[in-house]
Amino acid sequence: MSAPLLQVEALHKHFDTRRGLETLYRRAEGALVRAVDGVSFTLARGQTLGIIGESGCGKSTLGRAILRLQEPSAGQVRFDGIDLLGLPRAQMTRLRRRMQLIFQDPYASLNPRRTVAQTVGLPLQVHEAAGAAERRERVAAMLARVGLSPDHIHRYPHQFSGGQRQRIAIARALVSNPELVVCDEPVSALDVSVQAQILALLRELQGALGLTYVFVSHNLAVVGAMSDRIAVMYLGEIVEIGPARPLLHRPLHPYAQALLSALPQRTRATRQARIRLEGDLPSPLAPPDGCKFHTRCRHVMPRCRTERPALRPAEDGREVACHLY
Ligand code: SF4
Repeated sequence: MSAPLLQVEALHKHFDTRRGLETLYRRAEGALVRAVDGVSFTLARGQTLGIIGESGCGKSTLGRAILRLQEPSAGQVRFDGIDLLGLPRAQMTRLRRRMQLIFQDPYASLNPRRTVAQTVGLPLQVHEAAGAAERRERVAAMLARVGLSPDHIHRYPHQFSGGQRQRIAIARALVSNPELVVCDEPVSALDVSVQAQILALLRELQGALGLTYVFVSHNLAVVGAMSDRIAVMYLGEIVEIGPARPLLHRPLHPYAQALLSALPQRTRATRQARIRLEGDLPSPLAPPDGCKFHTRCRHVMPRCRTERPALRPAEDGREVACHLY
């Protein structure tokens, strides 16, 4: 088997509120927000890893930390065998051509003063990947590939619908021929009918261009439709990871079971009573001791309150962090 394109090992991203880096959490000044707290996984070339969890679980921060758009606090990220966290900033910037991010909000992520040609051509300009003529050709070809017409090239973002804007954002991400793309909630700002079209486009582009995706979403149905493997995150940690089909069919971790039981479109084979999660997600400023999920878990045992479970191999090629396994 070929070496994985992406290897993430014990990755941490903490925000120190004493330095005022995270104004959102100012009320509890002096504490450390453990947004990503020791995440490890590997991702094979051409595959999609879906990352799912409630809002605030750290999944978007993880995506950005992998690309060093937010500098990790500790751990290791290897991309095509290259140790990203050891790279000087200039080399990292050059390498970023091979790794791109598609943002959630196509309204906020496009500069309203730039035409489509300027927006999509920018990565080629930044990475000096092409001269002006070649740049124009590549931009036009990429726009056609994402389903936009040549007439669109000199228009501005406000002249497009939400779905078209996300197509522009996808074109911008892919024009420099990246290998890894982090898709951060790429359809959650769109109407449901448009979501299906954008997901189909992302799948088609993956097949045609051999892309590798890290696909972040709070929507399990969307992640299920896109992913070869799925990682379930809770308070900065992966609690279950494995092949998408068995994980969706029969989740093992009690948190993954609760998330899945809330899916409306369940097949008869996977249908089960809705498991209601008690209480809110605890603050990442003061996560519970032991298993971080123990304050909401219906299977909680005495050792869960003091002993943090590690990710361990379970059935079907999965790993689960739970004392039940
Ligand atoms: Fe629940 Fe205990 Fe498993 Fe945590 S370790 S998910 S509290 S059973």
